Amino acid sequence: MASEVKDWPRAIAHLDMDAFYASVELRRRPELRGKPVIVCGSGPRAVVTTASYEARKLAGIHSAMPAATARRRLPDAVYLTPDFPAYREASEEVMEVLRSNVETVEVVGLDEAYLDLTGLFSPKATMRRIAAEIREVTGGLTCSVGISESRLLAKITSELGKPAGLVVLSREDGLARFAEGSPGLVPGIGPKTVRRLEEMGATTLTQLRERWSREELEARFGPRSGAWLYHRARLEDNTPVTTSREIKSQSAETTFDHDVADLGQLERQLGELAEELCRRLRKRDLRGRSIGIKVRLDDWTNVSRSHSVAEATNDPEVVRPVALDLLRAYDPPRPVRLLGVRVASFEHDAGAEGRTGADGPDADDAEGEGEGEPQLRLSLPS
Ligand SMILES: [Mg+2]
Repeated sequence: MASEVKDWPRAIAHLDMDAFYASVELRRRPELRGKPVIVCGSGPRAVVTTASYEARKLAGIHSAMPAATARRRLPDAVYLTPDFPAYREASEEVMEVLRSNVETVEVVGLDEAYLDLTGLFSPKATMRRIAAEIREVTGGLTCSVGISESRLLAKITSELGKPAGLVVLSREDGLARFAEGSPGLVPGIGPKTVRRLEEMGATTLTQLRERWSREELEARFGPRSGAWLYHRARLEDNTPVTTSREIKSQSAETTFDHDVADLGQLERQLGELAEELCRRLRKRDLRGRSIGIKVRLDDWTNVSRSHSVAEATNDPEVVRPVALDLLRAYDPPRPVRLLGVRVASFEHDAGAEGRTGADGPDADDAEGEGEGEPQLRLSLPS
């Protein structure tokens, strides 16, 4: 017997816009409706950013597929270059609808957000209303919504109703529904971990739960990742929905038009970057204890160096000299292509312990949650 949403300890929705970039393009070019539309870059290494549902159905085009493959499979599709300012604008319209309806909204990308609906009389009715309002405000853009007991399950659930669906799934129902499913269907469990689990005889979530104790998983994957896997296998996740995503570090960097070999010139640039970075930190009231530099040489070697100071800071009189010392100590052996400065380990970090949802055993193939540290790119004359 499925439990009722109102009896859950928490009710969380994951809202994901359907084929967002392609849909924004179709909105302003209605003549393209019904045609396969593919948004992708044009360079040799470009990948598909979004494919309309027609393109998906006709030829299995999906995002992250090499654009060259898409062009080969579907040469007659309409290919468009991404127009991020337009997508950002549309995204703002969507997120505004969310924020005006629900107090706790965590935006995790241009087209995705989590909403904490705990305590609402009818989470389902609320989300239905929101989806209708988005459609109206944006001139027809649709979204898919998953409602469940955790962020993890809400994320999995929103996929089930695509496009334009609304699905409610309790953890109990999720365990039953995905009993024979691969551990890889759980966000954060990437292909590498799936392979390892298969080698261990855990091809399904049920096998993973029944054959491997928490202790054994911790012994195999390390205490942190083992415990994390143990909870994921049970579709357990207590990560809160937070209004703003925690900022882990801030950096400012510049790529030179011409590679720079002169240390004096590099020092001047680094000084300016440090000033700019501190201005940004002060604006956000962030202070960090770790000060670092990033150097990319003309042969694409990347080097970072960092140093921790006793007290968290955003003072350029502290950050600049530390960054300069790091640069002088490294003394780049080749001309420099890119130079950057970064401040991390912010004061509030200590209070952010205890989140269990964020890191998996292989962060590099974790499902994208729009992580990416916020960066400030500067164009300085070289
Ligand atoms: Mg989407």
